[in-house]
Parts: sequence; structure tokens; C-alpha cells
Amino acid sequence: RRSVVLRRRPQGMPAADDFEIIEDAIPTPAEGEIVTRTIYLSLDPYMRGRLSEAKSYAKPVAIGEVMTGETVGEVVASAHPDYAPGDIVVGPRGWSTHCVSAGTSAWGSLSKLRKGEAKLSYYLGILGMPGVTAYSGMKDIGQPKAGETVVVSAASGAVGSVVGQLAKRAGARAVGIAGGADKCRFVREELGFDDCVDHRAPELRKAIAAACPKGADVYFENVGGAVQAAVFPLLNDFGRMVMCGMVAEYNNTELAPGPNLMAAVRKRLRIEGLIVSDKPERFDEWRRLAAPWVMDGSLRYREDVVDGLDHAAEAFIGLLGGKNFGKLVVRVGAE
Ligand code: NDP
Repeated sequence: RRSVVLRRRPQGMPAADDFEIIEDAIPTPAEGEIVTRTIYLSLDPYMRGRLSEAKSYAKPVAIGEVMTGETVGEVVASAHPDYAPGDIVVGPRGWSTHCVSAGTSAWGSLSKLRKGEAKLSYYLGILGMPGVTAYSGMKDIGQPKAGETVVVSAASGAVGSVVGQLAKRAGARAVGIAGGADKCRFVREELGFDDCVDHRAPELRKAIAAACPKGADVYFENVGGAVQAAVFPLLNDFGRMVMCGMVAEYNNTELAPGPNLMAAVRKRLRIEGLIVSDKPERFDEWRRLAAPWVMDGSLRYREDVVDGLDHAAEAFIGLLGGKNFGKLVVRVGAE
């Protein structure tokens, strides 16, 4: 069999000779294993992350190790009770003509495919990992409602194309961002998005704003960089940003200064704004909960009391400079 292994870790954009093809004998399955002949191999942006040693949510591919990747394959030999030669399976395997598998993996077990249901390659895209990515992101985080506007970057791609179509199914306005006129035309005419903006347009911010007359309620982030900077200010109150990926930045050798939202993807961060007055019922709820703790001393508190209204302005200026030590209040009159 032939397999692609990682030869060295790329700096910036990967080059062909960072990889190497090796040959060895087609393995025979041990007890509980199957061997498949690869029909399709998926190539996905996340693989760039596996080439790097930087800490992430998954282990990097080791030097000399076969590249990881999902495949659709035909079982050619089986020592597993659930699989027989001729079965077609999809699952995380590797860049190899033949793969040996224990029938389960870190991403879940191999799935046997129903023959004739859809094109086999579709199980690596719209009916596979990227499709599920779009579905999960929209169902759990984006949650589009009728009349809202959903913006998605890399809109012609595996994830983005599904995101926009799910937005339409929810009755929302779907606005894509894609590279070049052909991709934008495809997004509008074939995928049925309401609009699509070319991210190479000279005035990107203005172009996206024009496509979103009512702002954006959901931004499904696939790209990062300049596109992220252009879409972010358009988010409406209570908007949702689905942090899926930032492919435009995967080859960067240095991070731009300031927070990098890729951490939100890697660490599944939840970042959500708060305005205290949105939930007035919390005031009474908190008083009832906390007053006994304050009284019995189990909830500690420190005040900084300034005497006299005349000192209010000075004390306020001090607050902004850190002069207060504890909650600053002015004693204006007698208790
Ligand atoms: P795509 O099929 O969309 O292919 C990647 C596309 O990204 C390119 O075609 C290109 O489209 C766009 N792109 C690449 N470089 C740049 C750049 N510098 N600026 C702007 N756009 C760029 O890939 P997928 O649909 O498979 O993946 C989309 C995103 O989803 C990726 O960020 C990926 O990492 C992420 N992802 C995350 C998962 C998760 O579990 N969090 C799972 C799966 C995917 P164009 O020419 O239109 O710009």
C-alpha cells in the first residue's frame, strides 16, 4: 500500500516536500480489526493544525507518521463481527490506499454506509464531518430565527454552503462571503443565498454592510483576519458568533497583537456580553439569596466611604485612578 507521511513540520504555507510517500505491505487484520481499501480521502483545513506542534484540541501528526484524514473505503478483510468484505464504511483513517482499523476511533466508530443512498464522496462533505459542523454550529450556537440575518464566510465551501442553506430553511436572510466573482455567483444562484460579497472587494466593510441592511444576527466564522474585522461591527444586539474556524490565519507564523479568537474554537470558549438591567428579576432574587450570607459574614465585603457630597467629584476621579479600596460610596446625610 501507499501512504502519505509527514516529513517535516512546515513553516507558514506547507510545501509538497514536507510530505513523503511510503510503501509497505497491505496489512492483515488482527482480531477485532478490519482492513479497508480507500475510495475517497477527505482534505480539510483542520489538517493544517495537525502539522504544527502548537498546543491544540488534538494531537499533532508525528514526523514519519501517516497523515490523519477521513476516508470512505470498502472492507477488503475483516476480523470484526460487525463488518464483512464489500461493506462500505466512512470514518477517520488516514492518507493511505489501505487502512487498518479497530472499528472505533477518537471521533466515534466507523459508520457503515447504505449503498445507493448518496454519492460515496458526499459522506466526507455535506453528509459528513463538514455538514455536521454546519448543523451543530447553527443548532447549538447560531440558532437563526425567521427574519434575522446570517452571515457566513468561506460560503462556497463544505461548511459555509450548508450554513447559508440552513439559514434560509429557518426563514433568515443568508449573506455569504467568498473569494471571487465565480464563487459569489455560485453562492447566490446555485446555493440560493440572498447575497454574497467578494472578500477581495476594495471596500470590504462597506460591501458587507450594504448586503446586511438590518445588520447581522448570526456570524458563522470560518475565516478570521480581515473578513472577521469587517463583519464584527455589523453584529446586532444579542447577535451570536459561531466560532468555527479561522482558515485565513492557519499559516501565520506569528499572531497579530491583541486577543486571537481562534482560542474560542480550540477551547470552546463561551464569550457573552451582559447588561445587568436586562433581567430585573435578578435584583430581588440576589437580595434574598445574599443578604443572609452578608449578615452571617460568609460573604465578605469592603466599603470605601467618603464623607460629604462636596467630595463626590474628587472621589469619583479617584475611582477611575484606583484610589478607592472597595465599593466607593459617599455619605451625604445622616442614617
Ligand atoms: P472550505 O471548503 O470552505 O475551504 C476553505 C476555504 O477557505 C477556501 O476555499 C477559501 O474560500 C477560504 N479561505 C482560505 N484562505 C482564505 C483567506 N486567506 N481569506 C479568506 N478566505 C480564505 O473549508 P471547510 O468548509 O472544510 O472549512 C471551513 C472552516 O471551518 C475552516 O476554518 C475549518 O477549519 C472550519 N472547521 C471547523 C470545524 C470545527 O469542528 N470547529 C470542523 C470543520 C471545519 P474563498 O476563496 O471563498 O475565500
